[in-house]
Amino acid sequence: MDQKEIIVLGGGIGGLAAANIIASRLKGRGKVTLVERKQYFQFPPSYPWLMIGKRKPDQVQKDLKALKEKGINVINEDITAIDPEKKVVKTTTSELSGDFVIIALGAQYNSGLIPGFSDYAHHIYDLDSAVEFGNLVSNFTHGTIAIGISRLPFKCPAAPYEVAFLLDDYFTKKGLRSNIKLEFYTPEPTPVPSVGPEIAAKVLDLLKARGINYHSRLKLKEINKNELLFENGESMGYDLLFSVPPHEAPIPVQKAGLTDSSGWIPVDVRNMETKFPQVFAIGDVTSIPTPNGFVPFLSKAGVFAHSQAEVVADNVVGSITGKTKIKEWDGKGGCFLETGNGKSAFMEGEFLVAPKPVMEFKEPGKIWHMQKVLFEKYWMRHWF
Ligand SMILES: Cc1cc2nc3c(=O)[nH]c(=O)nc-3n(C[C@H](O)[C@H](O)[C@H](O)COP(=O)(O)OP(=O)(O)OC[C@H]3O[C@@H](n4cnc5c(N)ncnc54)[C@H](O)[C@@H]3O)c2cc1C
Repeated sequence: MDQKEIIVLGGGIGGLAAANIIASRLKGRGKVTLVERKQYFQFPPSYPWLMIGKRKPDQVQKDLKALKEKGINVINEDITAIDPEKKVVKTTTSELSGDFVIIALGAQYNSGLIPGFSDYAHHIYDLDSAVEFGNLVSNFTHGTIAIGISRLPFKCPAAPYEVAFLLDDYFTKKGLRSNIKLEFYTPEPTPVPSVGPEIAAKVLDLLKARGINYHSRLKLKEINKNELLFENGESMGYDLLFSVPPHEAPIPVQKAGLTDSSGWIPVDVRNMETKFPQVFAIGDVTSIPTPNGFVPFLSKAGVFAHSQAEVVADNVVGSITGKTKIKEWDGKGGCFLETGNGKSAFMEGEFLVAPKPVMEFKEPGKIWHMQKVLFEKYWMRHWF
């Protein structure tokens, strides 16, 4: 029998899961190639811990070389072009042609969209930046830290709030909290609006209880030394600045004609197929409308990238092996919100159900923090 070629683009959360599941289930009946520019799989949910010195970089990354033993051919190169019609992918040195293409390229950051961002803003949206911001935090003794979100959409709606809570806890433990003002700014109307007003109110209460000042509906226009300027004319002073960088679809995705007016890849939400047959997109690179939701599009989160990878992998394997039952994505997912002091809250929901999404909020507790630690352990061990 002919070996089918499956090309997985991106070795982050979605791509790693999809490549692993397909390779293990096909056992030689297909050839799985994973293309990823980085030598390592890195686990972003641990970056907030990296920021406060609770993790070292080696604890939150794994060499993708290990996937060879799982029958996955890893190519550590940049993807430069995708032809979704022909299912051909160009990398820095080669051209690959597949029967199935799974696009899991996530989001890239475009700090050039905001004047001053590259000069003054820091973040934890990639591993090196998280280490760098952590160094600045560890030397900070007094003044104002502005923490916020520059543009929507961005990945992990809870992450910037985790940053605020963990910084509050970190400086409290160092005995420096009374010297430090924490100011949170966001273009959103409420905290984590995707999970609805009731949970947003709980997060707002948590911010208030920690003395973290919350400023909503502020869209960042420009950053100057020690001053943020917003589109409505307001300004905010700072001594240290955290800002989620503006996100966009990776350039080869934009150039491939895969995106729509949202700037991201639309998919058939049941099976994550793009408008091109046997070309799938999963995770942050997609835009999934939530017609009954609290916000117009599904949030970008690893938990969705993972469950979507499982659906696509199952259906790709099924279509190769002749299985007819199609798996459909259920739109369910949950996310931790680290609140400091060894505690975490947990928010979960069914995001696609009518008449409105069903959401649940688990109050901060040690149990949810332990669950997040287990979540990390799973990702650092299970696929390698
Ligand atoms: C600080 C932080 C905390 C988070 N916490 C959580 C959490 O607690 N729970 C949760 O569910 N989610 C969390 N997330 C979000 C989660 O990390 C993402 O939603 C998830 O990684 C998306 O998976 P993905 O496969 O779509 O993209 P990614 O995991 O980003 O993978 C995309 C991969 O594609 C590669 N790539 C991109 N372009 C190219 C190219 N041209 N050539 C070659 N390779 C390329 C990238 O290097 C990357 O490895 C967090 C994110 C951050 C930043």
